[in-house]
Amino acid sequence: MTPFVSPAASALWECVSAVPELRFGPLSLSRVPIGIEVRPCQDAGLAASSLRVIPVTDLRTLSQTDDLGRFRPNKASPNLMRGWAHLATDPQSLDAALDSLIPGGLADWYAARSGTANAVPWQQYADRQTGMYRNVSALNEPEAEEVARAGCHERCCTRRRLWTVGDRPPEAPSGKSEVPCLEPCALLLELARRAQRSNASEERSQLTLPESDLAIIDTLFDIALDHPDASLREGDLSAPGNPRRILLLREKLLPWLPAKTRGSGH
Ligand code: SF4
Repeated sequence: MTPFVSPAASALWECVSAVPELRFGPLSLSRVPIGIEVRPCQDAGLAASSLRVIPVTDLRTLSQTDDLGRFRPNKASPNLMRGWAHLATDPQSLDAALDSLIPGGLADWYAARSGTANAVPWQQYADRQTGMYRNVSALNEPEAEEVARAGCHERCCTRRRLWTVGDRPPEAPSGKSEVPCLEPCALLLELARRAQRSNASEERSQLTLPESDLAIIDTLFDIALDHPDASLREGDLSAPGNPRRILLLREKLLPWLPAKTRGSGH
């Protein structure tokens, strides 16, 4: 019996065959003589001989933790373990590899490509939350947009956000991969919960600073984001040093920072 090959896997196989390299979530896909090679994006330029060859049976385990052994709650995070490659010899095996490395990514990619993807707008998603997340719907549009820009920043996630806040546009494709995001994930929801709670309940302070001090703060953001605390887990949003928390604060301060001239994606 001929094995079933999903149309999505066949379509992706054709796409990868037509380009030198395709970024798919945290993965780099490229055509090689006997199939399609899958490796972490950050290893895209390395010689194949320098990478460990990983069988499909080990890919799911590999995707669970980063190079420091910390759990990866978001499989689209760019913190995928480095130093390996996997060879998919046909569309079916490519499907199996991607299912282990970025579950749901292929289906979402194919839906977006076929024009059948239904991205869930922020407010619709927030309105259906209950329990400890029921108040996220109280974030106003600028606040929700700040959360989205921070939580889905390219430093944190390789999926391109297609869901939107109000009438604002979806995320720009630059810096992101071909894999779309169709609705907020659990990490984003938790960031929103914390933002709503602090915005609603904490006292405000006013601060006036000269431009040169704002430039220092801008530099401190870059340092903190380039050198995050290695002891922090990605999912620990209670930690002030969590990159998503830092990015959210930067979003709030952006109108006053020199970074505004080059956009918040930096
Ligand atoms: S909501 Fe944002 S962080 Fe979560 S998967 Fe989508 S793009 Fe990534």
